[in-house]
Amino acid sequence: MFKYELGTIIETKKPHVCGGYNWEIIRMGADIKLQCQKCNRVIMLSRSDLEKRIKKIL
Ligand SMILES: [Zn+2]
Repeated sequence: MFKYELGTIIETKKPHVCGGYNWEIIRMGADIKLQCQKCNRVIMLSRSDLEKRIKKIL
């Protein structure tokens, strides 16, 4: 299990379409919103999907 909160920067196993690996957590709830640190696009993931994708917490 990873510990994360608003503002945490995470690294994913697979890159975004823009090639970026780092994301900032910008909203937490049932779903979690992540903003790509390279292209600034926002995606929404369920907690379980996020857990699967996280490589590490930065
Ligand atoms: Zn991106």
